[in-house]
Amino acid sequence: MFIDGEWHHGSGDRLEVVNPATAEVLTTIPDGVEADLDRAVAAARQGLAVWRNTHPRVRTQVLFRIAETIKARAEEFAHLDGLNLGESMGTGLWTMHDVVARRFEYYAGMADKIRGDTFVTPGQFLSYTLREPMGVTGHIVPWNGPLWIGSRTIAPALAAGNSVVVKPSSEAPITMLKFAELCLDCGLPPGVFNVVTGRGSGMGDLFASHPGFDAIYFTGSTVTGRRIAENAARNNVRTVMELGGKSPNIVFADADMAAALDGAILAIFANSGQICVAGSRLLVQESIHDEFVGRLVEKAEGITIGGPEANAMMNPVISAAQKARVLDFIEQGKKVAQLVTGGGTPADPALQKGFFVSPTIFDRVPNSASIAQEEIFGPVLSVSSFKDFDEAIAMANDTRYGLASAVWTENAKTAHLAAQAIEAAQVFINHYYTAAFEVSRSPYKASGDGMSEGPDAIWEFLRQKSVSIKLGESHWG
Ligand code: NAD
Repeated sequence: MFIDGEWHHGSGDRLEVVNPATAEVLTTIPDGVEADLDRAVAAARQGLAVWRNTHPRVRTQVLFRIAETIKARAEEFAHLDGLNLGESMGTGLWTMHDVVARRFEYYAGMADKIRGDTFVTPGQFLSYTLREPMGVTGHIVPWNGPLWIGSRTIAPALAAGNSVVVKPSSEAPITMLKFAELCLDCGLPPGVFNVVTGRGSGMGDLFASHPGFDAIYFTGSTVTGRRIAENAARNNVRTVMELGGKSPNIVFADADMAAALDGAILAIFANSGQICVAGSRLLVQESIHDEFVGRLVEKAEGITIGGPEANAMMNPVISAAQKARVLDFIEQGKKVAQLVTGGGTPADPALQKGFFVSPTIFDRVPNSASIAQEEIFGPVLSVSSFKDFDEAIAMANDTRYGLASAVWTENAKTAHLAAQAIEAAQVFINHYYTAAFEVSRSPYKASGDGMSEGPDAIWEFLRQKSVSIKLGESHWG
């Protein structure tokens, strides 16, 4: 663990961290206990006293230095993510340059622009607002992108003057630990950024129940989010949640078919389907359905699969447990829908040890089926067809999730009407995933709450205090 600017061995047992491409043990980490967390929260409380009083200009400089350093060391971090997540160097480099460094640059620029408002009632009251850091912030991060996802809350939290304790997933802790050391090297004072490790059911429950946090930011599954919110509520600790998704990807008959086909493949098979906003439900207009699905299957069958060194298009899923879970959903799908490709594990003898699943597509999936309603978080696509606009929107919204969506059409009116009607935090029109980090959004339904990304996310990391001075006789009362 990394606490108060130092490596900390932890007091509990150790957990193995496994390379998902080979099933080999990479290293071990502490399965943290209460005393470890107490220590981290106490260090963060002391770090807060330093960081919130650090001149905003200096906070800006430190955050920029972190962005520059992660770019300079991108290969090293991408290599570590490759070992721990099984992903290719290309994905790792994109994460470090275009996501982590980008977010730190963006919020570095915001650290010295936080300001309040003034309200004047002439001769009576002068009132103004102070915007202050939340305090000691806890961040619980999923395995599908320790820094990719973690930087979304860590960068604005630091920019706003908060101190941070992070609990990465026990399956993917390596780059987050290494990043804590990088932050210290870049001038972040000891105690401002701490990392504790451990199992979700142990350290995770302790973390969400700890009264020393002022706010907890969680990214992960909806089920875990609910449990964290319950635990935090016992101490009246505020939570902000980005949770699961089952995002509809709608293709109208007038769409650019070649572009929509590439988009549909990327939407579900990028990162082996382990992306919260993955387009896991493809809805295709009936008149183009047969041609579209035929060409989609051809493309899916051309996807290369391998570990990080193979530079393949698709990598393993994170763990043996996740592979078993995905295969279980596939078996459920076979009972209710047409399996048109995949449906198991790749035959390549070189891929038998790792946690690989073939790109899988089910067609004619009833929207009520578990594969159309549950977040699988693997390379499994459910395809259904619709007759017209109204039916497409009804199917798109027939889910408990509301994280993302996409619409493919050449008709601007259809695109805008769909964007208004879909209940989701993001609507991609004629593309998938290329969302701008500069744009804020908040999830619908069971996909969470609170603002993320862009200028408005900073308010999730600040409190607002009102100060009013009596200048003369008040008319009040
Ligand atoms: P998860 O919910 O199982 O775990 C996420 C984190 O919570 C991990 O660090 C885990 O150790 C911890 N955790 C587990 N049980 C806990 C508990 N009882 N108390 C506190 N912490 C606990 O999710 P995962 O399997 O790591 O990641 C996949 C999920 O994350 C998917 O549902 C995916 O949609 C979601 N996700 C959402 C977004 C988003 O932006 N909305 C981004 C990435 C991933």
